[in-house]
Amino acid sequence: MNNLNTNTLEHSVKFIKSVGPKRAESFAKIGIETIRQMMYFFPTRYLDRSTTLNTAKVYSHVVNGYEGEVTIMGQVLDKEKIRYGKKEILKVKMRDASGFFECVWFQGVRYMQLLFNPGEHYAISSKPVLTKYGHLQFVHPDFDKITEDETQRFLNTGKIIPFYRVSKELRSTNIGDLSLRKIISSAVETYADELGETLTEDIIEKHGLPGIREAIKNIHFPESKEALEKAQLRFKFEELFYIELLVALRKYNLQEQVPGYSMVVRTHLVSDFLKKLPFDLTKSQLGVLSEIRKDMQKPSPMNRLLQGDVGSGKTIVALISMLIAKDNGFQSALMAPTEILADQHYKNITRLLEGFDIKVSLLIGGQKKSEKQKNMAMIEMNESDIVIGTHALFEEAVTFNNLGLIVIDEQHRFGVVQRSRLITKGHSPDVLVMTATPIPRTLSMTVYGDLDVSVINEMPKDRIPIRTSLRGEASLPNIYKFIVDKKKEGYQSFIIYPLVKESDKIELKAAETHFVELKETYLSELRVAMVHGQMSWQEKEEIMVLFAKKEFDVLVATTVIEVGIDIPDANIIVINDAERFGLSQLHQLRGRVGRSNKQAYCILVTKDEHAERTNNFSADYEYMSPSQIEKNKAVARLHSMVKYASGFELSEIDLKLRGPGDIFGTKQSGFPELKYADVVNDTQILVDAKGAAFSLIASDPKLHLPSNSLIKENLLRSYRENLSYARIA
Ligand code: ADP
Ligand code: MG
Repeated sequence: MNNLNTNTLEHSVKFIKSVGPKRAESFAKIGIETIRQMMYFFPTRYLDRSTTLNTAKVYSHVVNGYEGEVTIMGQVLDKEKIRYGKKEILKVKMRDASGFFECVWFQGVRYMQLLFNPGEHYAISSKPVLTKYGHLQFVHPDFDKITEDETQRFLNTGKIIPFYRVSKELRSTNIGDLSLRKIISSAVETYADELGETLTEDIIEKHGLPGIREAIKNIHFPESKEALEKAQLRFKFEELFYIELLVALRKYNLQEQVPGYSMVVRTHLVSDFLKKLPFDLTKSQLGVLSEIRKDMQKPSPMNRLLQGDVGSGKTIVALISMLIAKDNGFQSALMAPTEILADQHYKNITRLLEGFDIKVSLLIGGQKKSEKQKNMAMIEMNESDIVIGTHALFEEAVTFNNLGLIVIDEQHRFGVVQRSRLITKGHSPDVLVMTATPIPRTLSMTVYGDLDVSVINEMPKDRIPIRTSLRGEASLPNIYKFIVDKKKEGYQSFIIYPLVKESDKIELKAAETHFVELKETYLSELRVAMVHGQMSWQEKEEIMVLFAKKEFDVLVATTVIEVGIDIPDANIIVINDAERFGLSQLHQLRGRVGRSNKQAYCILVTKDEHAERTNNFSADYEYMSPSQIEKNKAVARLHSMVKYASGFELSEIDLKLRGPGDIFGTKQSGFPELKYADVVNDTQILVDAKGAAFSLIASDPKLHLPSNSLIKENLLRSYRENLSYARIA
């Protein structure tokens, strides 16, 4: 019986009333092949009484100066094409019970003329205006066709009307708003009661969710606004629940199934190292280290994310973890996102380990073949204890002798896929992922939800907060004067020019021109150098080393210095065209300075008018054009930089400004895309769903219990493609 029902839902949509084989083909083109899929094609918008007004109300609003958008329902009385010289406009006259209004089109006149016919009903959405004759008018409004019946029910009983996206594939077989609503209505009426539940009774009850059948009916044809909201909640919850189930399974599979190593501090190595350090670790650093030590001691592999703002001292923590691995006879790998950074880590770590019997190797793409081969042989022979490199290190045929710990610096550049690939290099090694771009809470619960999280939330004691300011381009001469003055106190400066793509020749040219001009004019007394992405690794490296040795006072750069570079006396950073950078990039760039006990400065330079605009962060984007929105967001980013020093706050703002989407390139990771929920606004639902999913896996990790069989079935049916994420073969 149950089987039979399941099958019906998997039948072709052609069996739904008024679909048939032809229309079924056009539905297939938009991914709707089965009756179940048809029922899961949700409305994109709804029309309800609280969002519509009648003509009389709109009229009085407009007279009182209201400028927002309204929705109004009316019946077509008449249409008229009017000629103005060569131009034609279409005027459609409409009415509702309280008065008259008109809609006009200057474009698409022919098409609109065919569409609107006397007697038909429409819902019209747009900003109303008054014509010089005092008529209420809508110019190029959005419109949705509705039936007489729907209009009546809407007006009399407050019934909510759903609207679906009618794509051109559907239109090609004559499916419009009305017919699509009819088709879906008939599918829901006939088949909704055959849907099987996809959440356990326990969960449904505990979280106050409607059952699946009720939810499907109400998401399409809501009984009331409350019923609609409950249905929406259910689908968001369900989606996030299954995502968290994948996360929980991934975590379980990583921890419980693959045996790892148990490592403990065995010798004086770590304490000797700490004694030699010229500073004390901060409380945060110590706290994180003790979490890492506990993880390493457990036989299951560590899988930990270390978040700490730029300059908070993550590298030392990683290094001490690598010493613990060495103490247990294991090799460690430290993977950096760029060659420059790998090289810098190599130099710093070699310096810190002076006098200790520990072999550090560097392995990067820019090395000579012979050198690389020599290094690889050392790694394979277990002559290297700590191997530092870029991803080239792992993509090439490097074989470790006994890799016990992998540290990944600046995680967001890698993504989830690389992380998995890396792990295969060792036999369940411990993994420590470090990021300076803090991951907003919602993401650390989803995409990175299988990682345990440690946070360094304090800066080394002697640090002074960086002073950030926003200036118009007119201030540049003063800024250069500031750089020259500060040089007398031993300050070095970065001047950054954005290159959207490092390969962009025109922009590079512009940066080079600025460089030459600066050397000849404002900065002629100073020693100025330049690095950019088109240079080879060795060229960049050479200049960076000279800059670090204070052979240069000013370094002009494209964004190649973005990540991790640590030069204590460079305490001024000027960022040109700052509005073109993303928030996390700006914060990363700012982190290049302020690494010593001197006051550091970050000067954001932008178009004068941007600098003067006030922060309009809470602006209502709904009524802005895309370019206005862009400008506003750019200004909001800049003002946020001035206001906030903490990367955590900035990352939350960043997520809000950018909105959800494929953040951090999660698409290729097998991580499901969100259809219903929204990582910015649905945090609480996410927290609840995560709790439900993790406790389910804790009590029944293999989903063996009969009460969980429906969950297992649904997981295999609806999330088949994502199982690789959870590492379920
Ligand atoms: P990030 O977290 O950005 O990777 P780093 O690890 O590069 O930061 O540390 C920045 C600088 O601060 C380095 O020069 C490092 O030696 C120094 N540092 C790290 N920890 C401390 C500390 N507890 N006290 C003082 N300086 C520290
Ligand atoms: Mg770092």
